[in-house]
Amino acid sequence: MRKNTLLILLICAITLLSSCDNTTVPPSFTDTVTPDITVTLPPSESETDQPSQTQAEPSQTFETIEPSPTVIPPNSTYIDYYDLYIDLTVTDELSREQISWGEKSNKTEVMEKYNVRTSMDPEKKEIYLTFNLGYEHVRGNTEKLLELLKQRDILATFFLVGEFIEIFPEKVKAIYDDGHTLGAHSYYHIPPSYTMTDEEYIDDFIKTEKLLEIALKDDYERMRYYRPIIGEFCERDLYIAQSLGYTTVLFDATYSDWNRTVINGAEFAYNELTQDVHEGAVYQLHIVTPDNIEALPVFLDELINDGWTFKIFE
Ligand SMILES: [Zn+2]
Repeated sequence: MRKNTLLILLICAITLLSSCDNTTVPPSFTDTVTPDITVTLPPSESETDQPSQTQAEPSQTFETIEPSPTVIPPNSTYIDYYDLYIDLTVTDELSREQISWGEKSNKTEVMEKYNVRTSMDPEKKEIYLTFNLGYEHVRGNTEKLLELLKQRDILATFFLVGEFIEIFPEKVKAIYDDGHTLGAHSYYHIPPSYTMTDEEYIDDFIKTEKLLEIALKDDYERMRYYRPIIGEFCERDLYIAQSLGYTTVLFDATYSDWNRTVINGAEFAYNELTQDVHEGAVYQLHIVTPDNIEALPVFLDELINDGWTFKIFE
């Protein structure tokens, strides 16, 4: 009797527990919520919000107000040869007062303003050799100069008069082929730049460039450096040269070697060259007599032996 009671109680307990289990186990929704994988879902809302390629065509809508690819600065004159715009309306206000430069001159504020180079790094044992080439009064001097520079792995900067390029295109090509830098030194070496109108002055540059283009053919690149003739210029000149993309280069080491009728001899030239040696010196030299051609080998070899190096404007 007691055993039967216990058995009934046990069955009741098991039944109760199993019914409790049924209520606490969460129902499985697996069958009902799993989407049929064969159904292709429509794009979600966030996807449809994104602009489609066909919608994103504002250029069609705003075509008429798109800015021009070239923004033309105000007051500009287009200089076709260089494909650039410069403002010539300001030149009337720029001084035409002549500035004369010599190797002992002090750089003026105006020269600083237009980034004129007169000397280079005063801390470095570096020399910048520059040559102005107008005429070749001694036959073969250009070739002799190129040879003595090449023998010493020295590069220099050559400021060329247009007429020189016109008469000696093959010499200009040889200078270029040796790796030297070419700069502009006017078309005809007269008249002084500060006496020219803006148009004449700009045209003087262009004529010189065009001659170089003929001389160098496919190798031609426009010049980036400029040396005013006879060391004389005015603020207007510096403004226009800079606007056309030329850096004006003067000098702080030179002597009277430009007169083809005055031959002083190699020793005189050597002494003149030597006394100007200093860190960052920019030499302005000419080769219209035999003097520099004879003096340079000794002068340059001494500099090399003393640890000086040679730089070009580039
Ligand atoms: Zn000159």
